Amino acid sequence: MNKLLNHSATSMSDLVSQPLPEFKILGQPVNLATDYLPWLVNRLQQGIGTHVVTMNAEIVIQATQNPKLSEIIHKADLVTPDGSGIIMALRLHGVEQPRCAGIDLGEDLLRLAGKSEYNYPVFFYGGKPAIVQQAAQKWQTELPNLNIVGIEHGYINTEEQAKLLERIQAAQPKIILVALGVPQQEIWIHEHFHLCPEAIWIGVGGSFDVWSGVKNRAPQLIRKLDLEWMYRIAKEPSRWRRALALPQFAMLAVIERIQHQDKLTPK
Ligand code: UDP
Repeated sequence: MNKLLNHSATSMSDLVSQPLPEFKILGQPVNLATDYLPWLVNRLQQGIGTHVVTMNAEIVIQATQNPKLSEIIHKADLVTPDGSGIIMALRLHGVEQPRCAGIDLGEDLLRLAGKSEYNYPVFFYGGKPAIVQQAAQKWQTELPNLNIVGIEHGYINTEEQAKLLERIQAAQPKIILVALGVPQQEIWIHEHFHLCPEAIWIGVGGSFDVWSGVKNRAPQLIRKLDLEWMYRIAKEPSRWRRALALPQFAMLAVIERIQHQDKLTPK
């Protein structure tokens, strides 16, 4: 668990309130920090909402081809470096930055919300019906004080969608976990953020599948070696088409670095 979860509310509010520094990779922003949680807690305590995008190579490539997604990412309040491709691209520019995977940040936020001194209401939206139930149940068991104010699966019709929005607005959760996959979750958050303008809205992709126990996360060693993406392809070969974005991203990131170097080198 993140060590900063143990800080008192006062010391939290003294921490970062400035916008986080930003670096652009292939035109897409990534915010830099060693730990994003204090910054997020600070905003929660000030009643400032946050749309969090957890960036990876696949999203960057999608954004270069999808202007709407690109605009949403630029408007998001926080873009964390989720994928190891992003970390490597930053390193090409001499920027050393730890990875911040959406699933880890989601877990940190839930642990924070489950602390009695915070008790932030939480909403789970997305994933298959049984999956989202099991994921929420896992956290309720692990964090008995967790105040889950709503659960909804990600395959609802238009009528149910309208009801979902009413439920979210009425419940005013402070942490809204959205697991619809990219770019649906980013678009959905962008469109409905105004319903709870003081909440943290975060797209967490396949995290509910992992929390429900249906899928396994890569072992620690594989994550440490920055090979979680390879583990996911090995486990789900159907992801190979999505994985094509990875070499494309690597090539474009290297080209961008070379062009940047050329601009710096006097002719
Ligand atoms: N999903 C959903 N509704 C949809 C499409 C997808 O709830 O219409 C869910 C899906 O069940 C899965 C998640 O979105 O739980 C996407 O997971 P994926 O592994 O693709 O996300 P990643 O972690 O790669 O971003």
